[in-house]
Amino acid sequence: MIEGHDRRVYRGRFAPSPTGALHFGSLVAAVGSYVRARQQSGRWLVRIEDIDPPREVPGSARSILDALAAFGLEPDEPVLWQHARVEAYAVALERLRAGGRAFPCWCSRTALGPTGVHRACVSAPDPSRPPAWRFRVEPGTIGFDDVIHGPVRDEPARTSGDFVLRRADGLWAYQLAVVVDDAFQGITEVVRGADLLDSTARQILLQRALGLETPGYLHLPLVVDADGAKLSKSLGSLPVDARDPLPALRAALVALGADPAAVASGPVHVLLSRAIAGIDLARLAGRRSIAAPSLPG
Ligand code: GLU
Repeated sequence: MIEGHDRRVYRGRFAPSPTGALHFGSLVAAVGSYVRARQQSGRWLVRIEDIDPPREVPGSARSILDALAAFGLEPDEPVLWQHARVEAYAVALERLRAGGRAFPCWCSRTALGPTGVHRACVSAPDPSRPPAWRFRVEPGTIGFDDVIHGPVRDEPARTSGDFVLRRADGLWAYQLAVVVDDAFQGITEVVRGADLLDSTARQILLQRALGLETPGYLHLPLVVDADGAKLSKSLGSLPVDARDPLPALRAALVALGADPAAVASGPVHVLLSRAIAGIDLARLAGRRSIAAPSLPG
């Protein structure tokens, strides 16, 4: 049992970074995680991952939260903001350091060569400037069962190398923050886009090193252009219109497998409850991508 949460109750979350308005791809992740939590009679939480001020777009956290409300996606608990959690990240880093799993590193990206993968330090310590802190990744295979993708295996020592926990400029890395906060919020299953499948093995390594439980994983197929390219200029990458949520909500539900006729009419809450009753996410088995439906209007 972690942080006092009852692990028999399903707890899911949507964890956007405030780097712009909610777009169709992230709406699918939000709706998918919400539908899954409701189908499991669980709780659904929202966490704003605002730990990278240089990448943050002012006002976008508020606009994402307002859009979620317009789509009928109301979290069951207060929103958790990562900017308020840095103390917990420092405690976790200290624990990893004390256990010999985190080490200071002065290697520049250029020094690491074209891949940027760190296997051993190539630059000497330089006490005149602060180091980055990295997690030491031992050789070995990490496996997990994904609800959509089945058994997944990864060798993080080969694919990721020793990854950053805190950058030299003092900013906390996503991998550490996400693991600390998923445990803090008692998340039992992580539902998110398949673009983060490759991060999961690193997160499992951190959970183990910190003595945290590993949640379940469900990586939703990524929404791609009709020609298979990751969304860029298509309708699907445009911000969704929170003043007129129904067209995008219908499209998101159909992308997740809802019967188009079942979600053709009705207000947001009715569409969501029909989708909760009708969607079988297991039917997305094995799919890494789904084509963006065209949004009317
Ligand atoms: N904040 C991450 C993003 O917006 C998602 C983190 C997660 O779901 O694990 O891409």
